[in-house]
Amino acid sequence: MPELPEVETIRRQLASAVSGRRIDGVTVRYAGRLNVPAPEFAQAVVGARFQDFGRRAKLLLVNLSNGWTIVTHLKMTGRYLLKPGDAVPEKHVHVVFKLDDGRQLFFEDTRKFGYLKLVRTAELEEKIYAKEKYGPEPLEKSFTFDRFKTCLIKRSKKKIKPLLMEQSCIAGIGNIYADEACWYGAVRPTRRVATLSDKELRGVYRGALTSLGAAVKARGSSAVDYVDLYGKRGDYVPRLKVYDRAGKKCSRCSGVIKKIWIGGRGAHYCPKCQR
Ligand SMILES: [Zn+2]
Repeated sequence: MPELPEVETIRRQLASAVSGRRIDGVTVRYAGRLNVPAPEFAQAVVGARFQDFGRRAKLLLVNLSNGWTIVTHLKMTGRYLLKPGDAVPEKHVHVVFKLDDGRQLFFEDTRKFGYLKLVRTAELEEKIYAKEKYGPEPLEKSFTFDRFKTCLIKRSKKKIKPLLMEQSCIAGIGNIYADEACWYGAVRPTRRVATLSDKELRGVYRGALTSLGAAVKARGSSAVDYVDLYGKRGDYVPRLKVYDRAGKKCSRCSGVIKKIWIGGRGAHYCPKCQR
């Protein structure tokens, strides 16, 4: 599933490629993952311009010039793909936006878990964020260690890795970067927060920032399906320390990466240097 670095990559690419462009037409080919009927969606969107693109946690926010936002969750296999005017949409392209410069923006989703929700931009807080209970954005300056620690220790009985993925203490992290943050912090993903020292908590905090920041620069991790706006794979997978590396050597010690299951999700760690 695309996490913060992957969604942020697409956001940045959309912002530089199509900001200010007008949407001249919309074709909804599959309406099952829209929150409104297809004609209503098209009516709200056609004629508006792409004003800017935002991101909250793993949500991509397509802000239009007419006060509407298309809130997009890519889930497992959702993709935005920018295509020339003569490109023919494949089977799993659910929505086609025709731009005023002739190009097309496809929303494609093979597994159909992703969604597009039409929401008034002014109502995002109330209609979307409040329900999700998103914590702070890790790439923002306001995400300090003290803020992170205060949030974690209120949930001290929880295991560190699933807690990182809950979005409440840090937004945008999923399975990949939760594994990576624990490796950088040299703590096992199964450790309960109450057992972590201040130094270890700080290590996880720094690890999250290090891996997320570096992954954004590398245009994300194409561990499974993820590709960027131009259909290209991200470059971060070779730099992953533990995620999807079971049986391989740890780059910090001579340990061998192990895969375990926590609450039905795979977790990867080095049994030698992660305590
Ligand atoms: Zn190790």
